[in-house]
Amino acid sequence: MDIAPRPLNPLHPPIEVPILSDEEYDCGDFNTYPDRQGWTERSGTEWTAIFRNPPVEFIAFLERWLFYGGLHIVFGDAIKGIKFTRTLENPRRTVLTLENLPSLFPHTRDYHDFHPFLVNAQLIHMALSKKTIGSGQDSGYKRDSLVRFIMNRVAPDPRSPEIIMATSMLGEVLFNQLIQTIVKPGFEGYNGAMPSLAMPHKSLTWGLMRKAGWCPTALMPFYSTLNTCSLYFLYNLPRPDPEKVHTVLNIYEKTAENEIDPPPVPELCDSHKCALMKFSDKTYKTKHADGCPGDCKEVVANLDELCEILLAGKIPLILSVDDDDEEETIKLVAAEPDMAYVAISHVWSDGLGNTKRNAIPRCQMRRLSKYVRSLENMVLFWFDTICVPPDEAKVDEAQNMAMGLMRRTYEDAQIVLVLDAWIFGSTYKGKSDAESLMRIFCSSWTKRLWTYQEGVLAKTMVVQFSDGPYDVDVAMKRLLDTVDEITKISLLPPLLEAYHHIRRLKLEDVDAETRRAHLNIVFELPAIAAALGNRRTSVLTDEALCLGALLDLNVLEIARTKPELRMQTFWRMLKTVPESILFEHAETFDIDGLRWAPKTFMHAHQSTEIGRMGHSVGAMRWTRDHATVTPWGLLVNCDGILLSVRASRIRGHPFVRGDRFNTWYQLHPFLHEKKYGRTSVGDLNVSGEIAVLIREMGSIRPEELEMFNSEGERPQKGMDPANRHAPGPALIVEVVRDRGNVIMCRKLCHALWQKLDVDHDAQQIEDLNSRFPFQAGAPVMNHQMYDDTLFAAVGVQKTMEQVWCVG
Ligand SMILES: [Zn+2]
Ligand SMILES: [Zn+2]
Repeated sequence: MDIAPRPLNPLHPPIEVPILSDEEYDCGDFNTYPDRQGWTERSGTEWTAIFRNPPVEFIAFLERWLFYGGLHIVFGDAIKGIKFTRTLENPRRTVLTLENLPSLFPHTRDYHDFHPFLVNAQLIHMALSKKTIGSGQDSGYKRDSLVRFIMNRVAPDPRSPEIIMATSMLGEVLFNQLIQTIVKPGFEGYNGAMPSLAMPHKSLTWGLMRKAGWCPTALMPFYSTLNTCSLYFLYNLPRPDPEKVHTVLNIYEKTAENEIDPPPVPELCDSHKCALMKFSDKTYKTKHADGCPGDCKEVVANLDELCEILLAGKIPLILSVDDDDEEETIKLVAAEPDMAYVAISHVWSDGLGNTKRNAIPRCQMRRLSKYVRSLENMVLFWFDTICVPPDEAKVDEAQNMAMGLMRRTYEDAQIVLVLDAWIFGSTYKGKSDAESLMRIFCSSWTKRLWTYQEGVLAKTMVVQFSDGPYDVDVAMKRLLDTVDEITKISLLPPLLEAYHHIRRLKLEDVDAETRRAHLNIVFELPAIAAALGNRRTSVLTDEALCLGALLDLNVLEIARTKPELRMQTFWRMLKTVPESILFEHAETFDIDGLRWAPKTFMHAHQSTEIGRMGHSVGAMRWTRDHATVTPWGLLVNCDGILLSVRASRIRGHPFVRGDRFNTWYQLHPFLHEKKYGRTSVGDLNVSGEIAVLIREMGSIRPEELEMFNSEGERPQKGMDPANRHAPGPALIVEVVRDRGNVIMCRKLCHALWQKLDVDHDAQQIEDLNSRFPFQAGAPVMNHQMYDDTLFAAVGVQKTMEQVWCVG
């Protein structure tokens, strides 16, 4: 596809995108194009037959509609007469081309007017490319438009994987082009990053990268951070550790008939766990530098000397050595305020760690010293393997002190130097900044827990390539100043987004003191949560230390807590948190007072599917509204309905209504767990007083909608989102005590709410109202069950003034 940039010396030839016909789009309205092409309303059975056995003209029409339709939405009639296909010989074939796309840029229409239409077109493309959507029964004789059928029914996509990829790429760049009419890409206020339209597993990019040997665990996070163009770019770079073989059960895409994943077998990689990524302190081996035969001696720091510096509350620094240095002991210096030093940030799995003692091979000492000295003539450096005593040294207090000093260590460093084997294995000279930055932001360095704070806190962040150090801030600025029109709408948005995650604090351009004074946890925490989402660690109990350092809490106190209790200590140290944390779908503690508090922000470390999808785009829904942390639970203001039910269970999708307004909500509780691709629905037993907390403000994320669609008995109807209320997040709680001004409750489960709509759900509303007649203001507490399962309930409506204490 000629719109997608490729790196210098791409690994693969460009992908041709064959198109079945070169008929032009008629420049009419998008949603009615099927009618104009003769694909008018027909019965569900007829549509199913067409999708099972698609005639060529139907596939050609789908290709045209979803590809050109988007172009027409963004550029209007300016696309008339522009050539988007090219004929190639031997064999004769027609392929898509977007080489004329830039000529359309001056005709870009207004974002506000056309954005909803583009989203609509992309939803149809996504629904179709996913192959399965909704779980509605076969509508049989019921007549549906093609749009409705695609959105609600199972319909395998008859288009080729190439054209699906090209349509996804186009959709993304069109969005980025459109949004430029209101905001220019830059460091501030740019939220233009359009998430990928490519689905993991089912997309061509996934299949190609799997074939090229990428581990599914490595690929998975890219699908929430990169768009299709960037995935394609990455596909053309050599993957990390090319000698490693990641085996999975089926590397090719699943078919509609084979929807269920086989159960995982040990030693196989899957999307959440890489079989080759196992660390244990016992088997960890420190590696020698490239070029060393592996026989050089170790250089060691004196443990007593190290502990003495740490216990005095000082940062230990290493004196770099000359290339012919033969000293066996590492020279340590206690940092003083005026000492400039380099802090090294590395990926433990690259082999520069040491679990036994504060030592590294001499070849590595010389190598690190060389890098350090090449940076503005620096001589002192900090390196965790040498400067933090390992567990085996059994000097707990000195180790805790080192943890407590971690934030200052990176904050005070003149330069943070990043070492990552994949980045170091390549060069930057002669390559575009987009390429070098893409490599940096896709490296395993960006996937580890600790390296996040190391990057965030750095005054200057420099990455070591094999041909020299590379300043990330300078490079990003240069890229923004010189970016070409195509890179700007393809690779730049995800690069800017990634840069923001890592260098957010740098962007605010304040010194450490000011930053500390203005540190706002309600504002910081969502950003940190979003940034940590795709990261992992080999020691999960490190997360609390890392969060503590990032939020400038008393890390020493966290370090002194028993490792498995550290996360709880962390939450209890906070006075306020963003109010929306309550509605995030993270796995939370099952401990009195902390049932609102996520166990981790890293979705790879969540044990349930719900937890894993939790924070992927976290920051979007978090607000600056804050909730107060108390020993009894989290204090929040929000809407809710108090219900009184006999012993019953909640499963399925009960209806609830308050006594103030005649509005019915349908609840979609998240009670199911996904295991091996199978979904099992759990039960929730309730009795006595429960409440449904409803968050009105809050957009629903694609993963949630997907879950909702695949679980809900009523799939999203039609394509008129404007006519329906989008679902919102809810929480089902058990009321422990109603003290009037504060209702004390215990969290039971997350749910989505959806308002029943007078147009779409008239029948349902009538039925419910006949069982529960509505009388404004008259207090009612009533409910109905079938087979002990709660079907519908009405209760006392509470508004925003109500304070809930969720513990
Ligand atoms: Zn793997
Ligand atoms: Zn060596």
